[in-house]
Order: sequence, then structure tokens, then C-alpha cells
Amino acid sequence: MQFHILTLFPEMVENGLQTSILGRAIQKGLIGIHAVNIRDYTQDKHNKVDDYPYGGGAGMLMQAQPVYDAWKAVAKPAEGKKPVRVLFMSPQGKTFSQEMARELAQEEELIFLCGHYEGIDERVIEEIVTDPVSIGDYVLTGGELPAMVMIDAISRMVPGVLKNEDSGVTESFQENLLEYPQYTRPEVWEGKKVPDILLSGDHARIDKWRLEKSEERTKSLRPDLYEKYDLPGRALEYLLKDKMLHMDMIEDIRRGKADILAVREDGVLTKDRSGGAYRITAKTKDAGERLLSLTDPTGAVYV
Ligand code: SAM
Repeated sequence: MQFHILTLFPEMVENGLQTSILGRAIQKGLIGIHAVNIRDYTQDKHNKVDDYPYGGGAGMLMQAQPVYDAWKAVAKPAEGKKPVRVLFMSPQGKTFSQEMARELAQEEELIFLCGHYEGIDERVIEEIVTDPVSIGDYVLTGGELPAMVMIDAISRMVPGVLKNEDSGVTESFQENLLEYPQYTRPEVWEGKKVPDILLSGDHARIDKWRLEKSEERTKSLRPDLYEKYDLPGRALEYLLKDKMLHMDMIEDIRRGKADILAVREDGVLTKDRSGGAYRITAKTKDAGERLLSLTDPTGAVYV
């Protein structure tokens, strides 16, 4: 997989991505890092790439021309191939996630556009960017670190980059779960012992223990993620506690007639796939109101 990075600081990304796992992946030719210095494409006789913003305001803006020409130098779609996606590193973009990393790893090539100073002239962003992406709700001085963060996460999904192919699929965020706790030698450290089950050699029990720990951890550390985890399993677990009351909801879920929108300790919300009607079951009126607030105001049905 080929990463092209349009930047004013090529040495920063080149140096930052050469070590350890990614360094080996580059040597093996599994990934390629091609840093392009935007300054090399300026037509300004003093090599300038930025200027004051129209309308005033703080800081300088990167100009459209050098960015556009740097992009043109790398974005040469081969005959019959779709254009290479251009990811603009921006605090205003969609927040990067493991799911996005997995999706982007399917591409053969990606172009990263790194802003600096106060950003980039909007006109060239409109012209070339396909995906504005943020790495979180904070502002950095430049797009180089975000590009490196993304390239690291995407590269791990490229076949062959990780030694053990499994490690990319059993870790945090897979199926909306955080990873279970892990231990290595020695068996006892500072009086703390590795859980006995991990020394038992019983892999079925170890898998069960790990799943339980992942669930516990996700529930307490990332309740937002846990809400999205195993919706059918958790919904049925809740509904089957009172089978008679929930017969309709259970049947709709089992027959794939309803989407499960939320499962909480105190209630379940589903939406009928054909008619679009909501169904809520909840332990208390308040719990029901909280689920109701997730719905479109029309069509809710209480049970
Ligand atoms: N004035 C811009 C704004 O308020 O949206 C921020 C510019 S920032 C100082 C300079 C550059 O850093 C941006 O153009 C972008 O490339 C990068 N950057 C800063 N924070 C980022 C974030 N959270 N995610 C991705 N890129 C970021």
C-alpha cells in the first residue's frame, strides 16, 4: 500500500515512520511512504507557500497553488483506475476510528494533505479533498502527526504488516469491545499473581474469561461503545427475562423484522424494518423517556 504525504515538513513524517513494525513493513515493500514537499511546487521566487488571510485574522494560510501542484504531481490516476482518495488532516473532519482504518486499508494508495499555520486556502480543499479527517477534538500545529497516526493505524490492517495476523482482529474496538487484560512473565510480580485461569491451558475457559473481562471493561470504561456491542444477544437476554410481555419484540428480532437501536440495563428500543414503528420496553417511566429521546418523535410504541 502506498502512502503519499503532501507536507511542508517531509523529514518529520519520513523519520517518524521508519522504526519498528512500520520500518520493517517498508523494508519488505508492504507499505511505501512517499513524502512530498509542497514547497518544491511553489511558483513564488522567494519559495513562499503562505500568505495573510483575506478579511484579516490571526496567522498565515497555505496558498492554493503549491498545494494543488504538489497534488497533481502524485495524483495521476492510472488508466481505468479510480482517483486516489485525498485525506485532508483537519480538526473539522470526521473523527478517525478503527473502523475507518480498516476501511482505508482496502485502498491501494492514499494521499494525505497536511495543513500548517492557520490551515489551507479553502478553494484548493474544495478542489482536491475527498475525505476531511480529524484525529480528535483538539487543535495541533500541523497535519503531520495526524497523518502519522493514521498511517500507523491503517498499516496495521495491511496483510503481512503484523507478524501474527490475529493480533489485528482480537484487539480493542473489534466488535465494539475493548481488549481483555494481558499478562506476561513473571507469574508473580510485586506480590501480584497472574490470574490462575491463564495458566490452566484450558483454551475454551480462557476464551470465555477473556470475553467476560472485555465486556466488563468496556461497560465500565467505555459505556458508549458497550451500547453498540452485541445488540441482538443483549436485547434477547433482556427480553427473555419476561418472555410473555416481550413476545412481539422477541419474534421481530428473531425473524430479522426489527432493528435494535439501543439495549440498556433498564430497557430496549427497536424499530420495525418495514413500517418504521418504534417499540420500547423499559423498567421505569424515566428509563422509557430516555430511550424515547433517541427516537424520531413520531411512531413510538410502548409495551
Ligand atoms: N484554523 C484551523 C481550524 O480552526 O480549523 C486549525 C489549523 S491547525 C493550527 C493547522 C493544521 O493542523 C490543520 O490545517 C490540520 O492539517 C492540522 N490539524 C490540527 N489539529 C488537527 C486534528 N485534530 N486532526 C487533524 N488535523 C489537525
